[in-house]
Amino acid sequence: MSFDENDVPGLHRRTFLGLATAALAKVSLLGVGSGCSPNPLELETNPPPAAPPVPDDVFQLGVASGDPLHDRVILWTRLAPEPRNGGGMPDVNVPVIWEVFEDEGLTRPVRNGWVWAAPALAHSVHVDVDRLEPSRTYWYRFRIGDAQKSSVGRTRTFPRPDSSPERLRLASATCQKFRDGYFTAHDHIAAAELDAVVFLGDYIYESGGESSVPGREPVDVERVTTLSEFRDRYGGYKQDPSLRRAHEAHPWIVTWDDHEVSNNYAGLHWEEARRDDGDPHTIRAAAYQAWYEHMPVRLSLPEDPANLTIYRRFDFGDLARLFVVDGRQYRDPQPCNAEEGKPCQELRDSDRSMLGQAQFDWLVAGMRGSAARWNVIAQQVLFSSFTLRNNLAIPDSWDGYHRERQRLLDVMGESAVRNPMVLSGDVHAAFFNELHADAMDVESDLVGVEVLCTSITSSGDGDGMGKYLSVVEHAAPEVWYADALKRGFTICEWTRAGCDVTYYAVSTVREPKADLEIAARFRVKAGTLEIERL
Ligand code: FE
Ligand code: CA
Repeated sequence: MSFDENDVPGLHRRTFLGLATAALAKVSLLGVGSGCSPNPLELETNPPPAAPPVPDDVFQLGVASGDPLHDRVILWTRLAPEPRNGGGMPDVNVPVIWEVFEDEGLTRPVRNGWVWAAPALAHSVHVDVDRLEPSRTYWYRFRIGDAQKSSVGRTRTFPRPDSSPERLRLASATCQKFRDGYFTAHDHIAAAELDAVVFLGDYIYESGGESSVPGREPVDVERVTTLSEFRDRYGGYKQDPSLRRAHEAHPWIVTWDDHEVSNNYAGLHWEEARRDDGDPHTIRAAAYQAWYEHMPVRLSLPEDPANLTIYRRFDFGDLARLFVVDGRQYRDPQPCNAEEGKPCQELRDSDRSMLGQAQFDWLVAGMRGSAARWNVIAQQVLFSSFTLRNNLAIPDSWDGYHRERQRLLDVMGESAVRNPMVLSGDVHAAFFNELHADAMDVESDLVGVEVLCTSITSSGDGDGMGKYLSVVEHAAPEVWYADALKRGFTICEWTRAGCDVTYYAVSTVREPKADLEIAARFRVKAGTLEIERL
């Protein structure tokens, strides 16, 4: 299933249809119903009803945009005057006006309209603004009448699928545990020149605990499991000014990992320590709904939010195809009771799936059918096998699903699949790895590279999941770079000739502001995947 061609109306549309039939009828007269182009300034022909009274300061969570295509992008906001305490909105629908401009000064409007923010979706709104120009920067904001205005966001459309763009620049980021530090990396992501930010999971952490950083108050201390608790957790995270700035500066393309729901969960299988938390299906429904409500994604919430299909792909002209993968919802339980270390027999025999058959088939078909110069898989966890090769398995990563990993490596090795790359996160360390045709043989052909970015904050300054580094030093020639001590993000810049990968590190997450340094840089040559350290 692919969402390249959008047309999945969200709940806001259904609400709109139900509540604004008069306005809709008016638009239909103008030709929307028959597929003609309506007046681009819809507010003039389709004014919103007067807004009911709402509290002050409803736009504290800022704005976001995401899932850019060549002619459209999702704009997001949520009305929440009390983001950590139920949102604070009255139990009524509120008409929210959205406006898109082609200049930063907001003097040249190109599209506008209005949508209902409904209590059922925590007064979040997702607007799929279409009829935009390709490869173009826009500015946008939301408002309620003339009384309250949101901050201004900037976004950008992708190039046309049939075009040949010169370059694509994406930042990848992952693992932003609030109580482990300030999101200093996001200020630098906001300042970077990018086409989009790709977020690889652990946007929130469901677990509680005291803050390890002075002044970085925990959003609360309990483990969240209900819809209102998940909403409050997102509300707390999204008030962070650095995170807000990174959303305001670029469109995001988001997937999730485990901590948006429950540590190390696999489908509906909860780890032992979490089995008293409640019914996994109910928790997953609450978690997925809250994630949907807070992410700028082109999706609609199904009847049962526990089944929310989020895997999707994006074409950046013929330069790159980006696969956004869900490694959690469909996975079989980890072998070896998910314990890291010497692989148990179950792992050796494991034919378990991380992606599930339907998503696996979708991914393989999309790779084989791709005419793109680069084929990039954005997914959650460590893909390389240097750990398993060295008898130190991580069952929650691809080591636990190593036959499926091998089947993906087989496809990456096919000549029709050009220049495969894997983006990953999760381990609170940075890695740059060669991927070989045979996962257990580093002498076999090079078929791809893995770019694993370190955490935004998780594990804090000077710490991280360094337990695999001794293996890397002695017995992992496929690992070009490994650093567990730094927090930050990675930027990949693809051209027709190659891909430059830059690992950025912040000087600290213990204070609100930090300096940025380049920790490592590599160039991957298109065609041969030959790697050069810069
Ligand atoms: Fe994490
Ligand atoms: Ca994780």
